[in-house]
Amino acid sequence: DHELIRELMSKLVPVAMRLQLVEGINNCTIINDSYNSDFTALKIAIDFLQQQKQHPTKTLILSDILEVGQDSATYYTKVAQLIQQKGINRFIGIGPKMMMHQSLFAQHSGMSCTFFESTELFLQHFDPKTFREETILLKGARPFGFERIKTLLEQKTHKTVLEVDLSAIQHNLRAYKSMLAPGVKLMAMVKAFAYGTGSVEIANVLQFEGVDYLTVAYLDEGIALRRAGISLPIMVMSPEFGAFDQMIQWKIEPEIFSIESLKAFIQAAEQLDTENYPIHIKLDTGMHRLGFEQYMLDELIQTLKQTKAVKVQSIFSHLVGSDEADFDGFTEHQAQSYRSMSEYLMHGLGYKPIRHLCNSAAISRFPELQFDMVRLGIGLYGVDANPMMQQKLKHVATLKTTVAQVRKIAKDDTVGYSRRGKVQKDSKIATVSIGYADGYFRDFGNGNAFMLVNGQPAR
Ligand SMILES: *Cc1c(COP(=O)(O)O)cnc(C)c1O
Repeated sequence: DHELIRELMSKLVPVAMRLQLVEGINNCTIINDSYNSDFTALKIAIDFLQQQKQHPTKTLILSDILEVGQDSATYYTKVAQLIQQKGINRFIGIGPKMMMHQSLFAQHSGMSCTFFESTELFLQHFDPKTFREETILLKGARPFGFERIKTLLEQKTHKTVLEVDLSAIQHNLRAYKSMLAPGVKLMAMVKAFAYGTGSVEIANVLQFEGVDYLTVAYLDEGIALRRAGISLPIMVMSPEFGAFDQMIQWKIEPEIFSIESLKAFIQAAEQLDTENYPIHIKLDTGMHRLGFEQYMLDELIQTLKQTKAVKVQSIFSHLVGSDEADFDGFTEHQAQSYRSMSEYLMHGLGYKPIRHLCNSAAISRFPELQFDMVRLGIGLYGVDANPMMQQKLKHVATLKTTVAQVRKIAKDDTVGYSRRGKVQKDSKIATVSIGYADGYFRDFGNGNAFMLVNGQPAR
């Protein structure tokens, strides 16, 4: 019953995830989970482990689960079944209960199992060489002190980190999805290292969330995603001549913006005997960077009709100022050109590719321009020019560092190079472990910006 579903859905509360994904030794990826260790939390953590496609081997290090509440044999049978279902390759159980029930886990073939009575014993036997190129989920109840295992497995522990909140990415994606008309697809822009937030990690989340397309700027970014197990369709915006073979081998789809690039791509595709290889046609409706103009469309259609090696998967254009009301007139003008050029092209081709025009800001400001798909970029990472939309977004990236020393400075004294940081009154100052090598702009110095210290702004 729809009504019942609606009522119950409204009562669902989001489950806070406190899973941390960090780089480990020997090219491992470590998922550290400090969330409480009941069965549901374990399931969530294992789902997250499965989302990680960067290594084929998935390892789970699990302590006894406290708060059992049922008889422990039944409970551990359930846990062992879950782990088996989810295709974990390697299992390390720690704790007296794990020792007691180890036969339940060992029953399952295809999974290597080891057990230790305590975290101390695991640490004594720890050999870094035995962990390599795998994704390791560390899931321990507090008394087991798994942070000691984390320290051993971590690549390095920096005091200055860019923290990226993957659940905020999920939240923002869903905020935009809820604005789409039914059936409209979503292409997520992960170009430029996913706007500086990491590529594989973000792509794993997006793949799990079922976006329709990913877009990168360069082929090597796309290949890195494929190597890490991303299977979504990927579009490349600046396909380099000379690398088309490689692109086809990795099933990555080019943006085509000129007759020359089209002819070169067709040649490569025909040599590899492809059929209907998907390509994406970019139209120039006013950005004047790349793309076909109206007068080029006849030649484009002719060229496409002479080959079976490629097929137009989508037709798109890019808006110049969808985020500013001042340009709304121009946006309308671009939309009109896009509509008529894409219709001309579809008529000439005799089929209907996916059409897309909106970037992030346009999704909420121009819902009537969603066509078949939208291209979500900066909004995914928490920024939208539309205040109504900005309100719905969560903050994604936080640059964090630590205070190294605190000292007192007298009025008129100075701090730092060239005596530029003049102190106006007797002050208490903190030195932080970050500099321009970490991406912190020099312009922020000398009181031009502030950091938050325990939530309080400090210049
Ligand atoms: C970067 C880019 C986008 C995304 O734009 P945002 O304003 O970040 O949403 C969309 N389309 C194209 C062609 C782009 O290059």
